[in-house]
Amino acid sequence: MPRYEYRCRPCDDTFELSRPMAESSSPATCPAGHADTVKLLSTVAVGGSAKSGPAPSAGGGGCCGGGCCG
Ligand SMILES: [Zn+2]
Repeated sequence: MPRYEYRCRPCDDTFELSRPMAESSSPATCPAGHADTVKLLSTVAVGGSAKSGPAPSAGGGGCCGGGCCG
C-alpha cells in the first residue's frame, strides 16, 4: 500500500499514512487528532510518467541516395 505524507498545521509537523490510492486525496487526520492537514507530494515512486520532448531526428534525405556523392 502506498505511503503518503501529510503536514499538520496545528502541529507544524509532517506525518505519513499508508492508505489506498483511492483515498490519497481524502482528508487525513494527524496522529494527534488534528484534521487541519494538507497532503504533500507523494514520496512513493510509481514511475511510468510520460516523457514529452522532441523526437530525435535521424536527418533524412541521404545524400548518396540521390546520386550527389559521385
Ligand atoms: Zn496535529
